[in-house]
Amino acid sequence: MVKLPFATPAELLQKYGTNISRGGIYLRSRTVKVPGTPVTLDLRLSGGERILHASGHVLFVTGQQGQGVSGMGIRFISVDAASASFLHSEVATLPHGQADTPPVPPGVGPADYGPQASAGAPREPQGATRGPGAPTVEGPRSAAVLVGSAAATPSAPAFDEPTEAPDRTGPVIGIDLGTTNSCAAIVRGGKAQVLFSREGYNTVPSILALNARNRLVVGHPAKSQMLTNPRLTVYGAKRLVGRAYESPIVRQIKDRFPYEIAQGPEGEAAVKLGDRVYSLQQISALVLREVREIAQNQLGQAVSRAVITVPAYYNDNQRQAVREAGRLAGLHVERILNEPTAAALAYGYGRKLHQRILVYDLGGGTFDASVLELADTVYEVVSTSGDTFLGGIDFDNAIVEHLLACFREKTGREFQGDRVALQRITDAAERAKCALSERTEMRVHVPFVTLIDGQPFDLDVTLTRDTLVGLTSGLVDRTLQVCQEVLTARGLTPADIDEVILVGGQSRFPLVHRKIVEHFGKPPSKGVHADEAVALGAALLAHSLGQVDGVVLIDVLPMAIGVALPGGRFKAVLERNTAVPASRSYTIATSRDGQTELEVVLFQGEHARAQENEYLGTLRLKGLPRAPRGQVQVTVSFEVSNESLLKVTAREKVTGREVSSTFSTRDTPEAVKARLGVSDSVPPAPVRTPVSAGPVRTAVVASATKGGLFGWLQRLLGR
Ligand code: AMP
Repeated sequence: MVKLPFATPAELLQKYGTNISRGGIYLRSRTVKVPGTPVTLDLRLSGGERILHASGHVLFVTGQQGQGVSGMGIRFISVDAASASFLHSEVATLPHGQADTPPVPPGVGPADYGPQASAGAPREPQGATRGPGAPTVEGPRSAAVLVGSAAATPSAPAFDEPTEAPDRTGPVIGIDLGTTNSCAAIVRGGKAQVLFSREGYNTVPSILALNARNRLVVGHPAKSQMLTNPRLTVYGAKRLVGRAYESPIVRQIKDRFPYEIAQGPEGEAAVKLGDRVYSLQQISALVLREVREIAQNQLGQAVSRAVITVPAYYNDNQRQAVREAGRLAGLHVERILNEPTAAALAYGYGRKLHQRILVYDLGGGTFDASVLELADTVYEVVSTSGDTFLGGIDFDNAIVEHLLACFREKTGREFQGDRVALQRITDAAERAKCALSERTEMRVHVPFVTLIDGQPFDLDVTLTRDTLVGLTSGLVDRTLQVCQEVLTARGLTPADIDEVILVGGQSRFPLVHRKIVEHFGKPPSKGVHADEAVALGAALLAHSLGQVDGVVLIDVLPMAIGVALPGGRFKAVLERNTAVPASRSYTIATSRDGQTELEVVLFQGEHARAQENEYLGTLRLKGLPRAPRGQVQVTVSFEVSNESLLKVTAREKVTGREVSSTFSTRDTPEAVKARLGVSDSVPPAPVRTPVSAGPVRTAVVASATKGGLFGWLQRLLGR
């Protein structure tokens, strides 16, 4: 309800006439709603009499780009009879009064119609026609504004690196750096507790955005611009961390994200916001900085140490990237901790348990299952697996598909709405999904989602929990398949599991509980909080680090680490589920007379073809002594620390010359492929190829064509 400072309709039109047309009204307001937001207007004169009662939606905003007046143009969708009479008899007589959209009054600055403008799409939903008697609006003014705002590339601020190393004294916080949300916790008075966001939530959205004033904002403010400015809003970046731009996963997700994923200087995936490219380490660091600031505000002291959690399946590059992100956020990372282990700590810490548990972690974008054995203070991961493309978002998409099918059924046509409309449907789907965890029926109502024959159309569908179960039970079944794989990998059965611990927001879905009961024959534990467990576990480990009788964590390698073979096959050197810390060495010999260089190309993953796995790097040992082939021997050692960080060393036996982990991430997979002589026509090799593996180099590959390579390779691994 807005009370106008005018006593009569005539006074209103005299002073405010440039702001109103038959089709809409422009209102100045310090706080504006995003274009597309439905609104109901109740305009009163200064004496309290109603002059206009209308429902509509925000068509554009002004003053949000640092210039002009803050306000919004509201387009009427329906008006009551008295208002219609006022609009048709009085407003329509004004010079611009016939327009069917709200005017952009002089002096308020350019109008921003939301993301469809910058995407170059028409402002009206496609297929829109105008009703009879509603003359077409004169477009040139707004169209000019539109082009102007779309052409400008926002300038983004540089990332300012910390100038000093973090202080190693003071409290250590636990941080769950999540795909969707992040959470911080600390142990105080012997109890682990979550640190609340500025807005009072227990988590902070892991979202970063470049706002209209060209400032980087993190968390809730960033989330709130997701709808209006998706190209400048970065979410889900955790999936990109530590990955090469050309890697299979980045290629797969590049088109799904509306923001721009670019190639960093070392060939790694990076994010472009406005005119600047940010590394994933910087993006994560900005989220970590926000979390750190929250902690500092709440604790009233500087915080510069943290235990940060990562998914169990994170490879070596990704773990290194999180360490670096911590450093950039001014944090000394005391430990990188696997998320399932953190959840297990939240469940078992201080309880002296002797149990085998399964941590079922279904978050926004990924699913993980891990089996751990707890023996008092010892937490040992014995098996772990996951699916990086299975999470809450897939449940949302299943609902959106269903809603669009309902739309088709009701209207007999395909949904033609723009990205904002689709995002509004997705938001409504997610809200309904969460509500259906508590109740059995929920109305999904998205007003004015599109125009049908010029008339506004509301999407209005009642969704039942049973329908949701029907739509998503296949997804839940996939999670249980992964659980089964994790058990089978260790020769276990569901009956061998004492407790199932549920983590991740999507695990609240009652169907998950039901299927867990069916599969494991017992209900999941109620002992941990799905959103907080991982951060609390990290805080408990942080607390325990300083103690003599602290906890002992034993992890396993989430994915095999190995080397590329000529022809593009992958040979695992350290198998998946190998307990870490772990090490393995091989002695290899030169294959040519006078060979002075040796190269080891490293990958991590489970695929039989090297290029389908994640490229870790290339280790080059130069300056080998010239000698007849076979006489120069090199020991290659793979060492994986208790944080699953990899160190590879190659050492020549006679001279003692050594290279260590000097991974050349400049090599693109294409360059690596070229060196390995891989062509895409090479058929995939079976996973268990009985051919031994070993380091390769260009010259060696060349000799393969002469037939000597496989013998060389077999010597390489001593087989
Ligand atoms: P996380 O990554 O753990 O923060 O989980 C986020 C995911 O959990 C999102 O897809 C949410 O929609 C989903 N989620 C959060 N609360 C619920 C709930 N009560 N029922 C179902 N899903 C939920």
